Amino acid sequence: MLIYMDGKLVPDEEAKVSVFDHGLLYGDGIFEGIRVYEGNVFRLRAHIERLYESAKTIGLEIPMSLEEVEAATVETVEANGMANAYIRLVVTRGRGDLGIDPTSCPTPTLFIICSTIQLYPEEFYETGIPLITASTRRIPMECLDPRIKSLNYLNNILAKIEAKKAGVPEAVMLNLSGRVAECTADNIFIWRNGKLKTPRLTEGALPGVTRWATLELAHESGLRVKETVLGLHDLYNAEECFLTGTGAEIVPVVTIDGRQIGDGKPGPTTLDLLARFRKLRVSDGYKVNLDPAAAR
Ligand code: PMP
Repeated sequence: MLIYMDGKLVPDEEAKVSVFDHGLLYGDGIFEGIRVYEGNVFRLRAHIERLYESAKTIGLEIPMSLEEVEAATVETVEANGMANAYIRLVVTRGRGDLGIDPTSCPTPTLFIICSTIQLYPEEFYETGIPLITASTRRIPMECLDPRIKSLNYLNNILAKIEAKKAGVPEAVMLNLSGRVAECTADNIFIWRNGKLKTPRLTEGALPGVTRWATLELAHESGLRVKETVLGLHDLYNAEECFLTGTGAEIVPVVTIDGRQIGDGKPGPTTLDLLARFRKLRVSDGYKVNLDPAAAR
């Protein structure tokens, strides 16, 4: 496997980050997770734009232009000859002194991994998944804006541990006011009374690229869509519920905290959006140039 590391492609055994890197020491950095489907890097530009927005907010100057980062991402996929992949693009504050002061880090570290991701098994898309509500709350935007895709995931990890302990794959995270924010690594949607609803970003949600694609698909099908304020009551009484994310794509939810959602099966609106997303994922994005004989 070849890793893009600070300007060049190197074998993975040579791709090393210093123990003095502030990304490791303090979680001071940002990242993106991007999928490649049949040689199409899904919504590459949207991911790179989100990366630059995160960088701007945390005052991190990426030492390359947006176009150069985009080209480096494509180069990494092409060098690894992978037609289907998961890309992890990370920018840290870089190597510095011990102590949180970022001014001791002269050069950010930038690396790009092109690998695979363990998807939810296909049966989850047919049967739907159960959720619980985590007791760990989403960090409020008054403290750390959730729109920053930062290397600080401990809050989400604690909620994920709660989910796994409860024997479910994902957990709903509430904000400090007890309203629904998102899940540990996915955005959440409900369908009720002819309306598709998802929490506003300011409720404590990451601006998911899949969330945005789903909102666009819903608009195209003429669905009524609302970014709004949701409580657990709205979730429990939804006709349908689903999650969106780069790893999850669109996955139906059939129970939340032991309450059955709708008739306990993935609903028609969810399944229609999922089918249309599966067409979009191979067509909307950047087409990489792979040697057909070598492509995996
Ligand atoms: N929320 C969180 C906290 C996430 O980490 C992610 C990314 N996995 C998402 C939502 C979904 O965002 P995207 O669709 O861009 O993957």
